[in-house]
Amino acid sequence: MVALMGVGFYVLALPFAYFWSIPFGAAGVIMMAASFFLSETEGPVQPPEGFSFCPYCSTAVSLSAERCPHCNGVQPR
Ligand SMILES: [Zn+2]
Repeated sequence: MVALMGVGFYVLALPFAYFWSIPFGAAGVIMMAASFFLSETEGPVQPPEGFSFCPYCSTAVSLSAERCPHCNGVQPR
């Protein structure tokens, strides 16, 4: 989405002011790089408070539960 906006902005600005479009295009590239970097640093999805994801079926399991209610897998402590 951010990348599309950057490309769209570059294409729209091109006929009006070619030289002015260069910094906007560069900004679009930087935003693309930043979005990739941010999506990587956000990490995996965090389970809700008091829950952890079952390692076998990824169901949210209460931390007090010893077994997953979905697949009955033993939860690691
Ligand atoms: Zn499970």
